Amino acid sequence: MKKKILYIPSLSFLLLLLFNSPVFAVDGTITVDNLNIRSGPGTEYDVVGQAHKNTSVTILDQTGTWYKIKLGQTEGWVSQEFVTVAQSGNKLDAYVIIDAKDVTVQVREEPHMNGKVMDQLKGQQSYPFLEEKNSWYKIQLPSGNTGWVAKWLVEKIDTVSNNKDQPQEEKDLLKNKVIIIDAGHGGDDTGTISVTGDYEKYLTFRTSDLLAEKLERLGAIPIQTRTTDYFLTLENRVAFSHAYQADAFISIHYNSAPEFPEVHGIGTFYYHDQYYPLANEIQKEVIKATGLKNREARFGDYFVVRENIRPSVLLELGFLSNQTEENIVKGDQFQQQATNGIIRGLIQYFDYIE
Ligand SMILES: [Zn+2]
Repeated sequence: MKKKILYIPSLSFLLLLLFNSPVFAVDGTITVDNLNIRSGPGTEYDVVGQAHKNTSVTILDQTGTWYKIKLGQTEGWVSQEFVTVAQSGNKLDAYVIIDAKDVTVQVREEPHMNGKVMDQLKGQQSYPFLEEKNSWYKIQLPSGNTGWVAKWLVEKIDTVSNNKDQPQEEKDLLKNKVIIIDAGHGGDDTGTISVTGDYEKYLTFRTSDLLAEKLERLGAIPIQTRTTDYFLTLENRVAFSHAYQADAFISIHYNSAPEFPEVHGIGTFYYHDQYYPLANEIQKEVIKATGLKNREARFGDYFVVRENIRPSVLLELGFLSNQTEENIVKGDQFQQQATNGIIRGLIQYFDYIE
């Protein structure tokens, strides 16, 4: 018990420490004309400026497939597909160690499982680390070519330590934990439509992306079921959980009850009894972090938790049919609080089961 009370404040401190400092600052060049710079990492955010082809920018941060850039006095977000990163400006001096005695590690042209295999690595060797995307590392091969390796198969060594102030306990509880983050809906499936006409699918993605970014910085292995706006069946979503043998599967949703516009609050759903503790810990911490109405951790007959054999929950992070709540959950502050709450809930859960 004592242990539990002790590490919550230290985690808050850790989160503060991590999220107030920029991850990296490197130079990049814009590759297209009239590129919109937005106030947040997604096309649903307001346009705050424009950049043009061959303009040099400073890249301050990265969330999912978006870079935060600085151009003159303007700071904002652009899709990383329109930015080339200067080769000399790697965010960290780091190496990826391939240690494949019994298996081969595939090097792929794109950072996902369907990327074309360009090389296979065996034995133990280290390769310069270039960048990281989702759960993949871009490395440089001796030939000079670059390719992607799955980060759960390899080890990355940072030669510049940026982790020395992290309390060991929190790091260990999340370290190498595979967390599947499932952004609800996508593509033609918009999810619910809010009072003001916004689609649930964009908000679930924003929350998921932020959660993935934070988990990664804390040493976990977050895997997102979708990394952009596309349709994915419920079976596909569950398949991620089984294929990666998830330590936890978290499906992110926002709720709606248009016929009862006053209904509000956050609930977490589980299907299999043994995963109630996961739902309960996350629910408690998200409520503590956000201060929204507690609709409790409850049984819910949702496909992604029912058909899931790994520890799995589905979060309904507030009602988009309630105008006040919609305003709150769309805010940056809520997004930060909710994701921090989920992370604390995960830590509590892993502490409980280990
Ligand atoms: Zn939903």
